[in-house]
Amino acid sequence: MIKQDFLGTTNKLFNKALKYTDISEDLATRIRVCNSTYTINFGVKLRNKIHTFTGWRSVHSEHFEPAKGGIRYDINSNQDEVEALAALMTYKCAIIEVPYGGSKGALRINPKDWTKPEIEKITRRFAQELIKRDLINPAQNVPAPDVGTGENEMAWIADEYRRIFPTDINALACVTGKPIQKGGLVGRSEATGRGVQYIIREFFRHEEDVIKAGFKGGLKGKKVAIQGLGNVGFHAAKFLHEDDECKIICIMERNGAILNPKGLDVEDVKNYLIKKGTLEGYKKGTFEKNSSDFLSIECDILIPAAREHVIDESNAPNIQAKLIVEAANGPITFEADKILNKKNIVIIPDIMANAGGVAVSYFEWIRNLRHIRFGRIEKRRTAYQFNTLISAIETMTGKEMPEKFKKQFIEGANEIDLVRSGLDDMIREAYQKIRKNLIEENIQDLRTAAYKTAIDRIALSYESIGL
Ligand code: NAD
Repeated sequence: MIKQDFLGTTNKLFNKALKYTDISEDLATRIRVCNSTYTINFGVKLRNKIHTFTGWRSVHSEHFEPAKGGIRYDINSNQDEVEALAALMTYKCAIIEVPYGGSKGALRINPKDWTKPEIEKITRRFAQELIKRDLINPAQNVPAPDVGTGENEMAWIADEYRRIFPTDINALACVTGKPIQKGGLVGRSEATGRGVQYIIREFFRHEEDVIKAGFKGGLKGKKVAIQGLGNVGFHAAKFLHEDDECKIICIMERNGAILNPKGLDVEDVKNYLIKKGTLEGYKKGTFEKNSSDFLSIECDILIPAAREHVIDESNAPNIQAKLIVEAANGPITFEADKILNKKNIVIIPDIMANAGGVAVSYFEWIRNLRHIRFGRIEKRRTAYQFNTLISAIETMTGKEMPEKFKKQFIEGANEIDLVRSGLDDMIREAYQKIRKNLIEENIQDLRTAAYKTAIDRIALSYESIGL
């Protein structure tokens, strides 16, 4: 099964970037290997029977703590996959400069086989096992949602932690991606998709990059194909469609794809998918059963947003997109990456493209530790200052400022504006710094430049603690 080599892919990509760094082989090994992986087998009594479940939590690096990374629920999960994903978390955090090590967790389960109360029971039990080993802890290891999990699971995890440590004032910071009413942060659930949008926008701000990829003009009207209409894929497609006027010409899901050369209404498709559980029968597009065949559809931007290793040696030669944005983790195998690079297809790699999730998780964690919402203290003071400034301008010029500008100044920023602004800044800066590295070091592809950037930063961090 291809999926088994996910860790191999990650390590090969790491090794490829090493030649652009000055770090020693032994330090490279120290950075590359996963620090620890805990396998947990636990039983839960359900439907009058004890069911044994297997889960993992890997800590790839602890050069910063807490280690950060999602927990996925997937029937095909295994240790290799979890370690690969934990490594990607390390590199991702280094790229956007959040002070975290990398971690990841998984539970081998098909969530669709169980009811919501059963999932709650399983999640709480899994959380207990992890919490008692400090594998969930606001200072040491902070999970978040991933494939098959969402804010419900995070709320149950936070609640378990609070029950075990009722006097820990920072208990809510033990996990991110919680519901708003349970210490979550506005903008977290959209964050990974939003980050995908922001990095594509940043790419289109660099004319040289746009020309190199073979594009003409800006983002408006570009044809986008997306795989996976879950949390990440839905938000990315929705924002590109609604804010940037991209044409979403193809959406690939588990049991089939929906196509419309004129563009699909993403929200409408999502509502249909939620209601029917399939895209089959959706009237405002053509349904095709062989979903993954459409990864090679003629389009401008291809966004794999479902899972790892969906593009391999067998389909890479047929890919027609000019730009691939890896919203999913590890969607391209090492061999496929080589083929796509040869075809001069630009790839914005996972460790840059989907870093929006951990960026906003970082904000949520900080907000939980500060116990106050962003902007609370300064909002009225800023409004007062702007009011004074507007009065001064009006007095000096003898003219009244138009109402719409006045309103914008005086209303100030809401928490969601601040979250999006912070995310945008982190994503732009990451792209710019990696691009600079690519040019200065004469590196051929963004992925290698991104890995180099991450490796250099982690090496510096390890060296400064005197390893
Ligand atoms: P999700 O479970 O919400 O959505 C995944 C979607 O992909 C589902 O709609 C599923 O039906 C679909 N899918 C699964 N297999 C498919 C296939 N073979 N073909 C087409 N569609 C398929 O998961 P998510 O949170 O959106 O995560 C998607 C990817 O993004 C994963 O690789 C994950 O690790 C990565 N990621 C997620 C986050 C996050 O914040 N959730 C952050 C960073 C990276």
